[in-house]
Amino acid sequence: MWEDGSFIMANKILLQNTWLADGAGSPLRQADLLMEGNLIAEMGPGLESGDAKQIDCQGLVIAPGFIDAHSHSDLQVLYNKPEKIRQGVTSEVVGNCGFSPYPNAHAGELHEFGNGILYGDGEWGWKSASDYLLAIHEHAKLASVASLVGHGSLRIAHAGLTQGPVEEATLAAMEGTLDDALAQGATGFSTGLMYAPGSSAPREELVRLCKVVAKRDKIYCTHMRDYSTNLLEALDEQIDLARSAECKLQISHLQTVGRDNWKLNALALERIESARNSGVDIMFDCYPYVAGSTVLTQLLPQWALDGGIPKLSERLSDAGARREIEKQIMDKMVHEWSDIFISAVDSQANASAVGKSLAEISAERGDSPLNVAFRLLLEEQGKVNMLQFNQSEENLRANLAHPLSIIISDGFYVKGKPHPRLHGTFPELLGNVCRDKGWLTLPDAIHKVTGSPAARFAMKGRGLLKPGYRADLTIFDQSTIRSNSTYKDPELDPAGILAVFREGKALWADDPRFPVN
Ligand SMILES: [Zn+2]
Repeated sequence: MWEDGSFIMANKILLQNTWLADGAGSPLRQADLLMEGNLIAEMGPGLESGDAKQIDCQGLVIAPGFIDAHSHSDLQVLYNKPEKIRQGVTSEVVGNCGFSPYPNAHAGELHEFGNGILYGDGEWGWKSASDYLLAIHEHAKLASVASLVGHGSLRIAHAGLTQGPVEEATLAAMEGTLDDALAQGATGFSTGLMYAPGSSAPREELVRLCKVVAKRDKIYCTHMRDYSTNLLEALDEQIDLARSAECKLQISHLQTVGRDNWKLNALALERIESARNSGVDIMFDCYPYVAGSTVLTQLLPQWALDGGIPKLSERLSDAGARREIEKQIMDKMVHEWSDIFISAVDSQANASAVGKSLAEISAERGDSPLNVAFRLLLEEQGKVNMLQFNQSEENLRANLAHPLSIIISDGFYVKGKPHPRLHGTFPELLGNVCRDKGWLTLPDAIHKVTGSPAARFAMKGRGLLKPGYRADLTIFDQSTIRSNSTYKDPELDPAGILAVFREGKALWADDPRFPVN
C-alpha cells in the first residue's frame, strides 16, 4: 500500500531523472530506471510510466546495491542488524579470515576461537554449510549472504584447538567436509594464518584444501601470515599456493603495517601484478582507513595460545616462558604503544580501558605496556579487542585506487567501540575518499563495491544496473553523502543515502518519496 492509497500488485516503480552509476565503471548517465517485481526491467531516458509508481529522483545517483565482500557479520546478518543497509549494502560475503560459524562439532572450542571476531554470545554454530545457509534463507532479510568456509573453524571441528600438523586421516576428513560445504553452496574457503590454530597449518595442509577449492571452481581468500616485516614472503607463499593448487586467490585486507615497512607496499603491488600477468587469478581487497582492528591476542606469538587461555596463564606465570613471549613480541613489534588502542573488553572492571592506548593505560596504572596487555588478556579471559594505527595515507591511496582492488569493510562488532569501518566504510569511500580527496572517480569507486565483487564472488544477476538483474539499488546524493563515524564516536549514522532497495523492495529510506515496504 502506498501513501496515496493505491495498491500495486506487480510492484512496478519508475525512478525518474536519475544519474545511473551502472556498477561496471561507465561514466554516470542521466536516465530513468523501471523496476518490476524483484528485477530491473528497463533503463533509458524518458521511459513511459504506464501503471508504474513514479518517483522523481532529480539530482540523485542510483547505483547497484553495495556488496561488502569482506565482512565478519556471519551472525549479525541473521539478526538483521541495520548498520550495513544504512550504508547502502545489500550483499555481504562472510566467513573471512578463517572464521565461519560452521562446521560446529565442539561448540566450546569454536566459541573460544570465534567469539572475538564474530561477536558471538551464548549458543551459536551450525553443523554444516547447508544448515547455516538454511538459517540465512529463513532469517536474513536485509542482505544476500555469501559464505566462505573458515579454515580455523574447519580445523577445530576435526582437530580441536591443538596446533601443528594433523594426522592424514584428519586432513582427509577436513577435505571431505570442505568439499561437502562447497557443494552445499558455500562460496569459497578462507584462511586466517595469523590466528591459532590455523596459523600452525603447514603448507601441505593448505595445498590439499586449496585443491578442493579449485576442483569446485570456488575462491580462496586469505588473511596472510604477515602484513608487516615479512609481508612479501607471506604474499609469495600465497601466490605459490594458488599456483600449486590452481585456485582463484583473494588477498584479504592488503595493507603494510609499521612505518619502517611502508616501502614494501609498492613491491607487494608489483608482485600481485606480475603474478596476475603470469596466469594466477589473483585480486586483493582493502578498507578505506589507515587503522586496523583485531583481537588483542594477536600481539602474542600464537604458540603461547596453544591449549587456550588457561595455558597462556600458566606460561605467563613461568618466568622463562614469560621472558620468551616478551622477547618474541618485542622482536616483531612494529608499532609504538601509543598506536595501539583497546577497543573492547568483556568485564565492567576494565571498561575504563576502552578508547585508550596501551601507552596511556600504562601511564595511568604505573605498569609497563606489556604487563598491562598481559593482565588485560588474563582478567578478560582473552576477550579484548584492539585498534591499531598501521598504514600510511599514500599506501592506502595506492591500494584503494589499484585496478585489482575491491573495497570492503572488514567490519566486526565488539562490546565497546567498534572500528568506524563497521558503520562508515561505504559513505566514507564515496564522500571523503572519492568526492573530497579525489583519490578515485565515482564510477570507479562504485565498481569496486558492486560489479567487481559480484563477478569475483560469482553473485549472478547482481552488481550491475542491467535489465534482468536483481533490483538491488542504493540511491544517494553525491554532494552530501558522508560517514559520520569516527574513531572516538564510531556508531554515528551516515548521511546522504536516501533509499536502499533489495530485490525491488525499499528496505531502508530516509526520504518520504521512498516508502519502506
Ligand atoms: Zn583478517
